[in-house]
Amino acid sequence: MYKGIRMLALVKREAGPGLELHDVRRPEIGINDVLIRVSKTGICGTDMHIQSWDAWAQRAVTPPLIVGHEFVGTVEAVGSNVTGFTSGELVSGEGHVVCGRCRHCLAGRRELCAHTIGLGVGRDGAFAEYVALPMTNVWHHWEGIDSDVAAIFDPLGNAVHTALAFPVLGEDVLISGAGPIGLMATAVARHAGARHVVVTEPNAYRRGLAMKLGATLAVNPVDRELRDVFAELDMVEGFDVAMEMSGNAGALRSALAAMAHGGRIAVLGLPADDVSLDIGEIVLKMLTLRGIYGREMYETWYMMTVMLRSGLDIAPVITHRFHFTEHEAAFAAARSGESGKVIMDWSS
Ligand code: NAD
Ligand code: ZN
Repeated sequence: MYKGIRMLALVKREAGPGLELHDVRRPEIGINDVLIRVSKTGICGTDMHIQSWDAWAQRAVTPPLIVGHEFVGTVEAVGSNVTGFTSGELVSGEGHVVCGRCRHCLAGRRELCAHTIGLGVGRDGAFAEYVALPMTNVWHHWEGIDSDVAAIFDPLGNAVHTALAFPVLGEDVLISGAGPIGLMATAVARHAGARHVVVTEPNAYRRGLAMKLGATLAVNPVDRELRDVFAELDMVEGFDVAMEMSGNAGALRSALAAMAHGGRIAVLGLPADDVSLDIGEIVLKMLTLRGIYGREMYETWYMMTVMLRSGLDIAPVITHRFHFTEHEAAFAAARSGESGKVIMDWSS
C-alpha cells in the first residue's frame, strides 16, 4: 500500500551501542492493521537499554529495529478488514502484541499471553513518523485527554495496573522507586483513596517529584529505615500494600521487612539479576506477592481514561520535551536521573 514511501525513524541499525535517525520505508499495513501518524512519544527504560545495547538488549533485540512503544498519534489509514476507526482520530497503541489464539487470549485475558511480542522490541516500533499495529492493539482516546499524557498511556497503564492490583482504599501504601512509573503510581494510589503513600527513592530530584504527585513522605532509603516512619504516620504494624517499582533487590527486601501481616506486594520492577528473599518472612507474615507485567487489555486503558477524566493528574511526571531531531539530548535527559518522563515531538 505504501511501498516506496519514506519516513524518518529512530533505528538500532546494527548490534552495538547507539540509535540513529534514518530515512526508512514507511510500514505497509495488512488487512487488519491501522497505520498511525505518530505525533508524540515517551522514552522508556526499555529504549535506553536498547540504545546502550546492554546484556538484556543483546538477548531481546535483533537489528535492524525501529525502537519505541510509548506514543500518541492520529489514524492515517486502515486495512480493508478494519472498521470503527476514522481518519485523523487520536489513538495510542498497546505495546504488547498478543497471539490471539492461546488459552488466555481466547478467554479474554490477553495480558497473560505467553507469546507477546513487544512493539519496538520484537517488531518495529513507534519512534518514527508512522507506525503500524493490528486494530486490536489500537486505543481510541476519549475527549479531554491531554496529548502529552496520551503519549504515555503505556507506562501510565503499568502504574495503574500495579496500583489497582490490590485495594488501597484507606490503606498505608509503600512505593519503592520514584521513576516515571512509581511517580504515576503515587498519584493513582492517592486518587484510589490510600491513607498514606510513602515513596522510597535515593534520588533527591525524584523525591521532590514524588511529593508533587501526592506522596505523604518521600524517604531516602540510604538515610532512613522504613520502620522509623511508622510512628510519624500513626501506623501500627506496617504497610498494607507495597508496589515495588525500582527493580532493586534491597528495595524489595526492605518492603518485605516493613509489611504488616497479611500485606500484599505488587512487583513491577525488573531486577537485572537473581534476588534472594527471606521466604520465612513471606510465610510467617502471610504476605501475597504478585508479579505485574504490562496492562490489562483493555480494562486498564478504561480505568486510566476515567480516572484522568475525574481528577487524576499525572502531568507533573512529564519534565522534559524535545523535538525528535534532538533525540540525543532527549535520551541524555531521560538517562540523567534529573528527569521524570521525557517526551519527543514527531511533528515535521
Ligand atoms: P526507572 O529506572 O526510571 O526508576 C527506578 C527508580 O528506582 C529510580 O529512580 C532509582 O533511583 C530508584 N531506586 C534505585 N534503588 C532504589 C532503592 N533501593 N529503593 C528505592 N528506589 C530505588 O524505571 P521506571 O521506568 O519507572 O520503571 C520502574 C521499574 O519497572 C523498572 O525496574 C523497569 O524495568 C520496570 N518495568 C516493568 C514493567 C512491567 O511490565 N513489569 C514495565 C515497565 C517497566
Ligand atoms: Zn496469546
